[in-house]
Amino acid sequence: MIDKLPTIKKLMRHLHQVPFLASKNLYRVTSYFLQMDRERLNQFCTALKEAHEKIVQCSFCYVWKEKDTQCIFCDDIGRDRSLVCVVESWHELLVIERTQSFHGLYHVLGGVISPLDGINAKDLKIDELVHRVTTREITEVIFALNLTPEGEATAAFIARKLYGLPVKITCLAKGVPIGSNLEFVDRLTVSKALADRKVF
Ligand SMILES: [Zn+2]
Repeated sequence: MIDKLPTIKKLMRHLHQVPFLASKNLYRVTSYFLQMDRERLNQFCTALKEAHEKIVQCSFCYVWKEKDTQCIFCDDIGRDRSLVCVVESWHELLVIERTQSFHGLYHVLGGVISPLDGINAKDLKIDELVHRVTTREITEVIFALNLTPEGEATAAFIARKLYGLPVKITCLAKGVPIGSNLEFVDRLTVSKALADRKVF
């Protein structure tokens, strides 16, 4: 049936490329967009374009920030600059922030090493992390990567890269269930795992 509706088919093809949008919801999301009134549609498109134009990554920690403004972490003088928490993405950073128990800086890798998905070390901000540790007064790097095989392999790869540098390497305590995504762990567990972090 969809083949006879090429415009809808085209929209669905684009929506299908949106990560985390489950295929089973594709028809519902398509209907949602089709039913949007003109004003709402314009506001949505403008917000999307504006975000693309005005949001950039901080050149130190790779967290999103508004263009031409300071990084809400790196430029916050109240944060401990000797601690760097390494996270896979923004989602995990938000989880750590929600615990309100970490007051250091972050480093967003942009993913984890996963050759099957075509993601290699050079695709991530790993060299940038090593450079940061080498050139800044960082005394501890905390791995807060997801406890998946890819997350653990990525942590091991980075630890080898940091070997020999005068920096303590720690990881979250194993209160976080194996194979879990930090995003879906309750904030108390994450907070405890952070407090009980151990040498990697
Ligand atoms: Zn920053």
